[in-house]
Amino acid sequence: MEAIPHWIHGRAVAGSSGRVSAVYDPARGVQVAEVSLASSGEIDDTIKSALDASEDWADSSLGARANLLFRLRDLVDRRRDDLARLVTKQHGKVHSDALGEVARGLECVEFSCGIPNLLKGSYTPQVSTGIDVHTLLEPVGVVTGITPFNFPVMVPLWMLANAVACGNAFVLKPSERDPSPSLMLAELVHDAGFPDGVFNVVQGDAEAVDALLTHPGVDAVSFVGSTPVARHVYETGTRNGKRVQALGGAKNHMVVLPDADIDVAADAAVSAGYGSAGERCMAISVVVAVGAVADQLVEAIALRIPDVVIGPGDAPESMMGPLITGQHRERVRSYVEGAPAEGATVVVDGTEVDTDEGFFLGCSLIDGVRPGMRVYDDEIFGPVLSVVRVPTFAEAIDLVNSNPYGNGVAIFSRDGGAVRRFERSVKVGMVGVNVPIPVPVASHSFGGWKASIFGDSPIYGPEGIRFYTRPKVVTSRWPEGPSNTLDLGFPTHH
Ligand code: NAD
Repeated sequence: MEAIPHWIHGRAVAGSSGRVSAVYDPARGVQVAEVSLASSGEIDDTIKSALDASEDWADSSLGARANLLFRLRDLVDRRRDDLARLVTKQHGKVHSDALGEVARGLECVEFSCGIPNLLKGSYTPQVSTGIDVHTLLEPVGVVTGITPFNFPVMVPLWMLANAVACGNAFVLKPSERDPSPSLMLAELVHDAGFPDGVFNVVQGDAEAVDALLTHPGVDAVSFVGSTPVARHVYETGTRNGKRVQALGGAKNHMVVLPDADIDVAADAAVSAGYGSAGERCMAISVVVAVGAVADQLVEAIALRIPDVVIGPGDAPESMMGPLITGQHRERVRSYVEGAPAEGATVVVDGTEVDTDEGFFLGCSLIDGVRPGMRVYDDEIFGPVLSVVRVPTFAEAIDLVNSNPYGNGVAIFSRDGGAVRRFERSVKVGMVGVNVPIPVPVASHSFGGWKASIFGDSPIYGPEGIRFYTRPKVVTSRWPEGPSNTLDLGFPTHH
């Protein structure tokens, strides 16, 4: 059985806690490895390595950092296929989807290559006579990143590229369900020439997370995962004096207005609802059919579902792979099976799927869903699309705004005025206009509202630079000639 280690101070280190967790090949339903779960002592060693590295790294020139980031960009680019294959092996998503995840992570490395420009700070000469002010953006110190299973390459790159570019040392605690891609990233960071200790990977579960959140050597925490854990991470981290950004779960709606092109909307709903088996925080899980569009739209979505080829992620014809674990599959299945008792109609039942092995589930479509039903209220995180029918556009906006989550939302329409009204009134952090999965490019930033985020900082892009730096404001005077005045008043401008 392969034993998956940590990566501390530039090398793989076998775990010594004696605690391990099983890692599966979800397409075959068999255990393929075990990952070590760090003890608080191992967390302590890792933070020491990061602290040792952080002082010199913070003092390194921006030119040197940019050079290393360009090299990392090149290595990730050259190894994108290997990274994607490893993602498919442990996560299960299909190869093309895994390649897409690597590409979106690479974007974040490309953004951070511009670090000399991003850390320019600001300078104001002569704010008062003979006095100048400048603001420096300094690293925060040691940053930890705690990441979910569903994007084992992209989400770590959302964090690590900007964190190290800003001069911080970074400790990644990846999901214990698909931990190996983080080690390939560590090797690439090492091969790019980053000093030992600037990037470390510590494997673990809740115990490791809690040790990181309470460790005095950690200055900032970036978390991406489910809402209950995001809330816990935010509360524990801030109580321990750390800067925390914690991105949580989602229930993303796709509003379809009566004037929308039905084929465009149905293609988008199927692609964004069932892509990656619905295991995306930006997946569409609720289609909101406004007025007369509903019957036609439900029919068009149902017609497309048999075209989705389900199979192992490494088979070229597969469009949708398995779920992450057998336990998660059973949880997702329970929502479909329970929907009729809640008063909803199962239009397409994907609970029976024709495979002997693996954690597969088919695509399900459930009509007549309403708030208050489990299938609407919970984040299912599987290939289940719900349809909520509302009579008017205003009710569609109310539905979206009443939902506790606010990660992503999409509107499908040809009416510019209605779309503009939607864009301005919807209480959601990322909005797609005829775009079902509006994940912002790396030159913007990613973040939901409401229960989809704790803390005030979106992730990557310009907001990432802000999160990973502290401003220092310097007020300076260079007096010429002797001083001959005493002034005990509060400084004012003149
Ligand atoms: P998760 O919350 O179970 O785990 C996330 C991380 O937290 C993992 O590293 C895990 O080891 C750790 N963890 C789990 N339970 C913990 C606990 N009790 N205490 C401390 N740490 C704990 O999430 P997941 O199942 O790996 O990922 C799926 C979830 O992540 C979904 O809810 C999805 O919407 C969300 N997600 C959100 C975004 C976003 O940007 N908002 C992006 C991707 C995924």
